[in-house]
Amino acid sequence: SDTVLSVRDLSVAFETRRGTLTAIDGVSFDIAKGEILGVVGESGAGKSVTGAAVIGLIDPPGRIAGGTITLRGERIDDLPPERMRRVRGRRIGMIFQDPLTSLDPLYRVGDQIVETIRTHTDLSQKAARARAIALLAEVGIPAPERRIDGYPHEFSGGMRQRVVIALALAAEPELIIADEPTTALDVSVQAQIITLLKRLCRDHGTAVMLVTHDMGVIAEAADRVAVMYSGRIAEIGPVADVVREPRHPYAAGLMGAIPTLTQSPGRLAQIPGSMPRLTAIPAGCAFHPRCPKVFSRCRVERPEPIPVGPSRVACHLFDAQENAA
Ligand code: SF4
Ligand code: MG
Repeated sequence: SDTVLSVRDLSVAFETRRGTLTAIDGVSFDIAKGEILGVVGESGAGKSVTGAAVIGLIDPPGRIAGGTITLRGERIDDLPPERMRRVRGRRIGMIFQDPLTSLDPLYRVGDQIVETIRTHTDLSQKAARARAIALLAEVGIPAPERRIDGYPHEFSGGMRQRVVIALALAAEPELIIADEPTTALDVSVQAQIITLLKRLCRDHGTAVMLVTHDMGVIAEAADRVAVMYSGRIAEIGPVADVVREPRHPYAAGLMGAIPTLTQSPGRLAQIPGSMPRLTAIPAGCAFHPRCPKVFSRCRVERPEPIPVGPSRVACHLFDAQENAA
């Protein structure tokens, strides 16, 4: 099959003095070869934690408390740390908001890319350097045969993020986790980076999990989108459906305004109220205190995702409509 990443019923818990807090609760999704899945939601929805779980970087006292994560059919959620480190370098690439998280300021950018290539392939030093130059050219670094010997601080923010993308691609990973990859960049540069990421993942057949709070980025880049709320997926489906015709009331609220990438930075529409704290997740549907469509059942019974058209939606409204029909 074309499925690269498969997450099933994932739960992530944090042990605290006050007890166990559930940050992610029953999250399931797939990402296919060459596909970009956007993961969107307000801060605290669990987007980054989901990404961190996939790459095995949940910091204690957090832990994966349930479910499975498989990469091309192979379980990766229960690997020993040493093996997971290898999976991260070779099979999963990472792009974070701050390029300096990935780039060591004390090393020439080329040395970092060459080292990654040599760690994960059998290429000679010379061949790895040639490949690094080709990668830098591919991500749009001008004069790559010269710039390869530059240090991270010698690149602009946008160029530095291009270097990070080259680094993420260096080992030809099957999957890239990109967490707010454009959030720190100028708006004009954001669009270029998104276009680049989209083209590269098509060309290389890389699956991408694109975590962002920015609906403009999702609308521009993603094939499918998962809208998260309070550690769960509220709605997941093709971007055209979820963006143009969101079903879940929370998703509908978010889609209230989608500025394009050429306008001001995309902001999620304001929904009155705020995301509940982990210590006080409401019973029933976690969104119910903010939901304009709330009804009695929502306060007591948690909605499970059900198929609605090509999407899956976790909201009693659809269940109720079905039953009423
Ligand atoms: Fe609103 Fe109820 Fe649907 Fe939750 S389940 S989103 S409260 S209608
Ligand atoms: Mg985040």
